[in-house]
Amino acid sequence: MKTHARVVVIGGGVVGVATLYHLVKKGITDAVLIERRELTSGSTWHAAGLLPLFNMSYAVGQIHKYSVKLYDTLEEETGLNVGFKKVSNIRLARTRDRMDEYEYYAGVAETIGINVNFLTPEEVKEIWPLCETDGILGAIQHPDDGYIQPADLTQALARGARAGGGEINRFTTVTGITQKPNGEWVVATDKGDITSEHVVSATGNFARKTAEMVGLDLPVIPVEHQFIVTEPHPEIVARQKAGLPEMGVLRESDSSWYLREENGGLLLGPYEAGAPCCYVDGPAKDCEYELFQEDLDRLAPHIETAMERVPAFGEVGVKEVYNGAICYTPDGSPMVGPAWDLKNFWINEGHSFGITAAGGAGWQLAEWIAEGEPSIDMTGVDPRRFGPYASRGYLRAKNEEAYANVFTVHYPDEERQAARPLKRAPCYDRMKALGAVFGSVYGWERPNWFAPADLEVPAGELEVDDVILNHNHAPADETGKVKEKWSFRRSNYFEHVGNECRHVSTKVGLLDMSAFSKFEVSGPGAEDWLEGLVANRVPKKVGRVNLCHMLTKNGGVRAEFTIYRKSPRDFYLVSAGAFERHDYDYLEKALPSDGSVRLQKVTTQYGVLVLAGPKSRDVLAKLTDQDLSNAAFPWLSGRFINVGPAQAHALRVNFVGELGWELHHPIEMQTTIFDLLMEAGAEFDIKPFGIRAMDSMRLEKSYRLIPRELSIEYAALESGLDRFVRLDKNVDFIGRDALAAWKEKGFKWQFVTMEVSGITDADARGSEPIYKDGALVGRATSGGFGWRVGKSLALAMVPPALAVIGTELEIKILGEMHKATVIPESPFDPDNERLRA
Ligand SMILES: Cc1cc2nc3c(=O)[nH]c(=O)nc-3n(C[C@H](O)[C@H](O)[C@H](O)COP(=O)(O)OP(=O)(O)OC[C@H]3O[C@@H](n4cnc5c(N)ncnc54)[C@H](O)[C@@H]3O)c2cc1C
Repeated sequence: MKTHARVVVIGGGVVGVATLYHLVKKGITDAVLIERRELTSGSTWHAAGLLPLFNMSYAVGQIHKYSVKLYDTLEEETGLNVGFKKVSNIRLARTRDRMDEYEYYAGVAETIGINVNFLTPEEVKEIWPLCETDGILGAIQHPDDGYIQPADLTQALARGARAGGGEINRFTTVTGITQKPNGEWVVATDKGDITSEHVVSATGNFARKTAEMVGLDLPVIPVEHQFIVTEPHPEIVARQKAGLPEMGVLRESDSSWYLREENGGLLLGPYEAGAPCCYVDGPAKDCEYELFQEDLDRLAPHIETAMERVPAFGEVGVKEVYNGAICYTPDGSPMVGPAWDLKNFWINEGHSFGITAAGGAGWQLAEWIAEGEPSIDMTGVDPRRFGPYASRGYLRAKNEEAYANVFTVHYPDEERQAARPLKRAPCYDRMKALGAVFGSVYGWERPNWFAPADLEVPAGELEVDDVILNHNHAPADETGKVKEKWSFRRSNYFEHVGNECRHVSTKVGLLDMSAFSKFEVSGPGAEDWLEGLVANRVPKKVGRVNLCHMLTKNGGVRAEFTIYRKSPRDFYLVSAGAFERHDYDYLEKALPSDGSVRLQKVTTQYGVLVLAGPKSRDVLAKLTDQDLSNAAFPWLSGRFINVGPAQAHALRVNFVGELGWELHHPIEMQTTIFDLLMEAGAEFDIKPFGIRAMDSMRLEKSYRLIPRELSIEYAALESGLDRFVRLDKNVDFIGRDALAAWKEKGFKWQFVTMEVSGITDADARGSEPIYKDGALVGRATSGGFGWRVGKSLALAMVPPALAVIGTELEIKILGEMHKATVIPESPFDPDNERLRA
């Protein structure tokens, strides 16, 4: 075993080996993999080997697509057969919502470049003659996926890695990991130490144990997953003898199972409710190829529906039941990318579809290590998307929920319930009493919208017959009423959100944004350091507020901060609530070592109440002795003011395009300030509003969001950030030269705002394909209805030649084509007169 290497990968399952393979391909031949037992002796050994391309996440979709393509080439490259059977995969739909999900997904697939077909029940029957098609509305088919032999796949990747110089050490256990003051890692094993520049953790069910070695609480806990293999069935055997093609992988999403042929029989894998977490404290030291006692009772409802759908399944005996550990994270997506707080420690863990994801995850992680950036926007799988709140108790609840929801309809407005409420702003109960229907982000409860007290979704609208998974609404509130139905279309809250927008626009509204991430940067070096970090100028004058973007070294957008200069040497940074750990990590890792800059996370010290609307000045004026006039307190400025006896840094900015102030106040004063505002605002008819109204209003202002319109994949100038990117700034900033070179080379994309015509009940959501003369030319990044302009809107990225105002394009929303016309930015109040009022 080497004693020095550039990268050490821990874990010889499919994920670790695929990482090693790609490191070698990226030119890091000085890479070593360490596996405590035999390769594949963890979860990889007992995987069913399915390679589902279907995934609603952009990042995971790209990763899966890459893998499937790569696996097809491995035999030719390595000479090892990986048992890849491209038998295709069919997902059945029993409900209209399910068909909507497939239609929505087909748009994502098209923009990523994944082939899908829609099938009628008759076409399903032709391909799968053993399948009964009663109650089926249709199906979606992936013609290019199928299944593979996981152990053979791993061996082929290992051979490819070794051929390029990668070293694999089996029967070697990592026992400790330490970082030296010079940044080098020392990986201790039972066969000696290895010193390296980078370490990758790819240890599957041991993820939390490995993370503990470096002091991380990694949000990964496995869940039990079972599949059943039957004895051969005469009809399948006869089909094989007759040389007929395999029928492919069949998924009945509404009954939550997959089924495929296996050695003349069938293999059924249900995703049942009630599957427990396992290995909460990690597997035993000597664990290998470990399976658990089966629990068929838990699977009974799924087995029943499988027998109804494919009677052949019930006609043969069970040969074997596998019950193994499958890694989960709270949202079901893996964790691929840098660890927080640690330099050059990388995570490739939490894979629940690890056979499918291994190739793509290894590829992007290797790129990140070798080149400093991945080429795909990895936000959806970034390990820093969870914060310290995602610890043991939370994980137990959330990971079991994620498992049970693998096959539920992935509504874009769905709000899952496990482990909630967790983080509550002090005004939570007050908002609730006013009718708040909450959503959750980064563990925080936030009002999404406000429901009238008597509102109730009629039971008849919620029921779906004969379907195991009917997960189309939030649970009833304490009065027994279901307030919200989820949908890909305009749902029951649509009009109520509209009322909130109209109210903010004509009167005054109050929004809780306490979940914002907040950081303080201070010290003698603070200004210069920030200047080198962001593309806009950092506020020069005390009290000035600027919107600033941190770019990647390639010129894409990494993070967005509102920067407020509190004092000559103190800056206050605000960014999206979901990115607290992510943004803090980038800031922290970029700190100078000379101690001239101090960085503090102050998210939970400050609450944020957003007062917005034409009457907001009148309300606030009643509570402060500060001059709120335009001359004294202009747009894009901030002041430390009194709010009655309480206090706040009032920033004259907001995300809704109306006159207003964000009140960043000591969190312990929140309810005092809340009550004062509601009292003072009563004469102006103040009402709370929620995130959904905010989102509608931000669309009307063409305000961009990470990772939608802003992404590492788009140059900051493609995203239309011209006003915020100072290429001529006298301080060099991260990404400047690359962005200038990108500009010189010419841009592929340009951000546009579009009006969508002919909509009756389904607005764009983001990810819809956009066409010109029938050809795919771009993708929507966001969409919705703009209540103040009375238009259905979409934000999108299209080629610059098609970004000209008035260009007529088409957008496909849930399978239907609509005219989409490029319109000027900020269709509501383009001159910002409201903001400056
Ligand atoms: C029943 C079942 C069916 C499944 N079906 C599918 C499917 O059809 N399709 C799909 O895509 N996925 C499927 N999966 C999931 C898939 O098996 C996993 O996502 C995948 O195998 C994860 O690979 P890994 O390399 O991350 O983990 P593992 O295969 O568990 O590898 C981790 C390795 O790290 C080693 N290790 C840990 N700690 C140390 C240490 N300290 N020192 C050295 N080595 C260490 C372990 O020994 C182990 O070999 C299934 C899982 C189960 C349980």
